[in-house]
Amino acid sequence: TTLSAPPLGLLLEDIVRRHRPRQNAGSVPGNIPFLATVPFDRFGIAVATTSGEVFSSGDAGVPFSIQSISKVFTLAMALQGGRSAALWSRVLREPSGTSFNSLVQLEAEKGIPRNPFINAGALVVTDHLLEETPDAATQLLRFLTEQAGSHEAEPGSHAPFIDEAAADGELAGSSRNLALAHFLKDFANLTQPAAVVVENYVRQCSIMMTCVQLARAGLFLANDGQGSTGRVLSPSEAKRIGSIMLTCGMYDAAGEFAYRVGLPGKSGVGGGILVIVPGQCAICVWSPRLDAKGNSLAGTAALADLSDRTGWSVF
Ligand code: GLN
Repeated sequence: TTLSAPPLGLLLEDIVRRHRPRQNAGSVPGNIPFLATVPFDRFGIAVATTSGEVFSSGDAGVPFSIQSISKVFTLAMALQGGRSAALWSRVLREPSGTSFNSLVQLEAEKGIPRNPFINAGALVVTDHLLEETPDAATQLLRFLTEQAGSHEAEPGSHAPFIDEAAADGELAGSSRNLALAHFLKDFANLTQPAAVVVENYVRQCSIMMTCVQLARAGLFLANDGQGSTGRVLSPSEAKRIGSIMLTCGMYDAAGEFAYRVGLPGKSGVGGGILVIVPGQCAICVWSPRLDAKGNSLAGTAALADLSDRTGWSVF
């Protein structure tokens, strides 16, 4: 279904009206103090189309912590390097069915994480990037800034940035991610020191972006790998990232999300969700309170509503 401009803009306004939380339901992650300070009633949504238009509503111009949405982009960067075979010998592409920060499978499966979107797998991807660049988080920030494009920035809004204070706060509570990293190290699936990998990983998660910027940055995934300033990935690599988003992007809620929304997505505990409609658009929704699996409560409901009303689906 292709929607013309006025209906889509109006539809997004209606989505915001219906789904912006009116009461403080849901949870915030316990290990990232900054996220508890974000008001519960923030809600934004943006759609960037392959034809170059951007539609948005609500708090779509307010920067939020991208958290695990960063994992899609670090994977894209890792696949750009021409060393993808090395990466895929270190991480699988299977849904985990366990929480994003689970340690259980890592022991059972001898240090090979189930997929690049759970924390263990994302640490491996970051380690892979660190083999070539000492500052992977800054490299990611540069990539995102380029893909997000600054020319359409609204007055007063700023380019993506790393919230260093938020990163420091998370780093202070990173026992579990450090445990995962040490486990990987013990199974010889980490080349850099555990502390270095975790620090880079936490800084990449602490990148602040708006819904508009994230939708634009994710557009290459909906556009056969073609980004705003040129080709990012081959069409088949872009397709594969979409497949991993569909099967693993929402952790142990991937099945439920596929059932409700029918589109590849990637969530973060900052409350953002990036969704791809192949050939048509990238969508970013943000609402900070989370469900029990760590995915945005209102964001998921809004996407289910939007996909029902537009007919957007990969099925
Ligand atoms: N930085 C967070 C963590 O490692 C990211 C988790 C997430 O967004 N699901 O706990």
